[in-house]
Amino acid sequence: MKHIRPLFYEEPSSVSEASEMLSTPGSLVLAGGTDITVMLRRKPMDGVTLVNLKRIPGLDGIRKMEDGSLRLGALVTVGHMGRVLTAPEHAALRIACNSLGTPAVRNLATLGGNIGRASPASDVIPALLSLDAVVILESAGGSRRVPLEQLLQGPGRLDSRPGEFVTAVELPPREGGVGSYWKAGRIRGADCALAGVGVSFCWDGDTIVDPRVAMTSVGPTCLRSAGAERVLRGARLDEEVMRAAADAAAGDARPITDLRASAAYRKELVRGLLMKNLRSLAAQERRSC
Ligand SMILES: Cc1cc2nc3c(=O)[nH]c(=O)nc-3n(C[C@H](O)[C@H](O)[C@H](O)COP(=O)(O)OP(=O)(O)OC[C@H]3O[C@@H](n4cnc5c(N)ncnc54)[C@H](O)[C@@H]3O)c2cc1C
Repeated sequence: MKHIRPLFYEEPSSVSEASEMLSTPGSLVLAGGTDITVMLRRKPMDGVTLVNLKRIPGLDGIRKMEDGSLRLGALVTVGHMGRVLTAPEHAALRIACNSLGTPAVRNLATLGGNIGRASPASDVIPALLSLDAVVILESAGGSRRVPLEQLLQGPGRLDSRPGEFVTAVELPPREGGVGSYWKAGRIRGADCALAGVGVSFCWDGDTIVDPRVAMTSVGPTCLRSAGAERVLRGARLDEEVMRAAADAAAGDARPITDLRASAAYRKELVRGLLMKNLRSLAAQERRSC
């Protein structure tokens, strides 16, 4: 007979109330539940308290700030972002959101949950990295802003403090920017990435400014490719530059071999996916930032 483990459930109505609940060992944030339900089925735990954030006001909106940055609440769903982020500078994130799972999953899965899960195979995180996303973490003790790249510590690990959780993400202004995201998976649309690459940058005439290249499923966390960014910075996007950037990204990738794909194949995927991104961006109309 299966042992049914006790599970507790709370619905705090403020950040400080939630933070106090989350300071207790064994408490977990519950957002869309698409990861947490799978996790609890795989590895049942005794006496877990799920702290649902849905009654805390202000976590589910998207706001343009006075300085032109975009503030996305932690409870904004991946499906919503895939529908409303229509500005060209947010293209990498919009495409990544629309490539996550199935429509049913996207309509539950949240931005905060994707970051909180800290999966090295996330689709949302590389797109956010390509946009220099800053994460807002709050607790009863106050709030702090941390570049997403610094927050990612390893598979499922964020550099967060007890009682702290993600309340929002800010995307700095990048008007006129462009972006793209491609992933490769075994089952189109319903599988997590074997590899994925997101790119965002600005044009200055025919020259690339501020390139960001970020990858998924090729390391212990989603990671940026410093090598590819170096090749692209200040370059014109011809075939030779694209190939050099793709080689550099494959060099920066640190994949493992597992049941789903070999490390060597994942590096090849990175090369091909970055080429695909860059070719599609080269073919688009250009306007300077
Ligand atoms: C069938 C299926 C397909 C999927 N395909 C993909 C895919 O292609 N690409 C992809 O990237 N993901 C995929 N996922 C994973 C999942 O949908 C995403 O990671 C999703 O964004 C998680 O959000 P959630 O709101 O459901 O999180 P939850 O399940 O509620 O929480 C996930 C984790 O994050 C923590 N958490 C939640 N909110 C916060 C917060 N605000 N602050 C701090 N921690 C928090 C929770 O405690 C938990 O540890 C898939 C999942 C399923 C079930």
